[in-house]
Amino acid sequence: MDDNLEDLYQEIILSHNKRPRNEGILDPHDSEAEGYNPLCGDRLQVYVKLAGPTIQAVQFTGQGCAISRASASIMTEVVKGMDEHSLDAKIAEVMELLTAKEEPMIDPLELGELAALLGVRKFPARVKCATLAWHTLAAALKQSGSITTE
Ligand code: ZN
Repeated sequence: MDDNLEDLYQEIILSHNKRPRNEGILDPHDSEAEGYNPLCGDRLQVYVKLAGPTIQAVQFTGQGCAISRASASIMTEVVKGMDEHSLDAKIAEVMELLTAKEEPMIDPLELGELAALLGVRKFPARVKCATLAWHTLAAALKQSGSITTE
């Protein structure tokens, strides 16, 4: 990754942390889950509103580091309008991008702001900060309502 791109990604993270999209309790919502990352202390609640099989809205609340909040904020925008099938695929894709041992081949244009999260790959301790919101969303969709620490 070249330096200019890294600066851009850093700016995207900081911007989402400062002005998160879709932060707040979603009322009404169909399901919710809480996620906790003990490595960093990040704690998020994710709320989901469905229209049939489609994600109508996702919002989040909670406290955490800039990466965890930016990841949640970006996620709420990315998943809106997806059906369960494409959402499952998206969650799997993001997990793979963040945790695969090999540097992923990506198309930054196609990935959009999600690409900004890939910077955490260099800091293994921070990967869970970036994956927390996605694990929590997956848990919410299972209607478990349980606390996920993955
Ligand atoms: Zn964190």
